[in-house]
Amino acid sequence: MTITITDIAPRVWPACLNCYNNGRLVGQWIDCTEAADVTIESLHDGFGGPYEGCQEIWCPNHENLPIKGEMSLAEAVRWGEAYEESDPE
Ligand SMILES: [Zn+2]
Repeated sequence: MTITITDIAPRVWPACLNCYNNGRLVGQWIDCTEAADVTIESLHDGFGGPYEGCQEIWCPNHENLPIKGEMSLAEAVRWGEAYEESDPE
């Protein structure tokens, strides 16, 4: 039997912390390797805003990473860099 794993790319769900704390889920799933391109403006694309107080980006969720819990966007960027260096393809 052959098991093919097709989806191991680490992904994060960066969200606007201000919106998150106010009950609005403003964020989107992206590959970690794209985390460096996320801005507070790009996060709000399609959601309205950014609103007053929207400044900090936080990652309350992620998948295919060997850690538990939340992380900062900067940490997600470092995971993306590490994943690219490991060059799985
Ligand atoms: Zn926001």
